Amino acid sequence: MFAGLPSSVEIREVGPRDGLQNEEPIAVDQRIALINALSATGLTAIEAASFVHPKAIPPMADSARVMEGITRVPGVRYRALVPNERGTLDALACAVDEVEVVMSISETHNRKNINMSPEESLQQIVTLTDLAHQEDTPVEAILSTAFGCAYEGNVSPERVALYARRVVDEAGVDGLSFGDTSGMATPRVVHELLDALENVGIEPSTVGLHFHNTRNTGLANVMVALLRGVSKFDASIGGLGGCPYSPGATGNISTEDVVHMVEDLGADTGCNLQKLIGCGELAEELVGRQLPSQVLRSGPRTQTVAS
Ligand code: MG
Repeated sequence: MFAGLPSSVEIREVGPRDGLQNEEPIAVDQRIALINALSATGLTAIEAASFVHPKAIPPMADSARVMEGITRVPGVRYRALVPNERGTLDALACAVDEVEVVMSISETHNRKNINMSPEESLQQIVTLTDLAHQEDTPVEAILSTAFGCAYEGNVSPERVALYARRVVDEAGVDGLSFGDTSGMATPRVVHELLDALENVGIEPSTVGLHFHNTRNTGLANVMVALLRGVSKFDASIGGLGGCPYSPGATGNISTEDVVHMVEDLGADTGCNLQKLIGCGELAEELVGRQLPSQVLRSGPRTQTVAS
């Protein structure tokens, strides 16, 4: 076992939200079926829905029906993304286990996406966190474009760390995660961000990381982060979310691939890989195309060819 590796790692499944959001819309029943299947794999966190306006993101319409229709498994946290107060109230009405709020570190990206400055987004996170905490629901803040921005290029790790510190201090969020929105993270950039976070008193062991495989560095990024003590990673079943017909969508790293590598390193994810591969096959059926997960194609390394 590698020195310094966490003994257990939480893989947070994002396929039903971040994945499907970037695919052609599928039926509510199918979204429910995918979440229910994922709930039986040992995953402990599933991003199940997004309470956005249905016209803004049609694949996430009817998220309340999804939340009401799933069979909740004890020990699994069903999480939802919220963009504003209305969405937060809708999510809380569905008794989500955790609310996710988001701001972009890049001024340009934040303005193009939600027409706010990062400062305004930070103030909104304060408001939404208060709302969620009134219902005793924990909040994770996602800082997007944390590893670079398609519009601005490099994003200073010190700037990311400054906002991370402020989101914790001013909003009192319960968790932080950092999104590689444009797929620009490399092992070097991951190291530099974790250094900057440590410099403001945020330990790698406390944060979640969200990588894309846009430039094929997704698993390498996970590896270096693991060696720095990071133990929470987002991943998407089958690699859902990299639809070639959806401009701007970049591929999430796949749950099967991450679980396969992490378990092989000797860290425990609590996940059953064969069941995850079954979910990857279901996801391919639902979206009607082959998904980019490699382990979904090849199986685990110990799988031998039938003679
Ligand atoms: Mg993503």
